[in-house]
Amino acid sequence: MSARCPTCGRPQTPEFRPFCSKRCADVDLQRWLSGRYVIAGSREDEDEDTPGSPAPSDD
Ligand SMILES: [Zn+2]
Repeated sequence: MSARCPTCGRPQTPEFRPFCSKRCADVDLQRWLSGRYVIAGSREDEDEDTPGSPAPSDD
């Protein structure tokens, strides 16, 4: 297989498919959540009053 990590383009790792690392998986997850957040923002009836600030990663 020659599939690549959609985040950075490196060869993906079986452990973190379809990403190459947990970091890239987290990045993609954040993007996904961001898009979801935008969509959710159009429906103010489900606003949870959370600022949605990402936790600082310290690694
Ligand atoms: Zn990657």
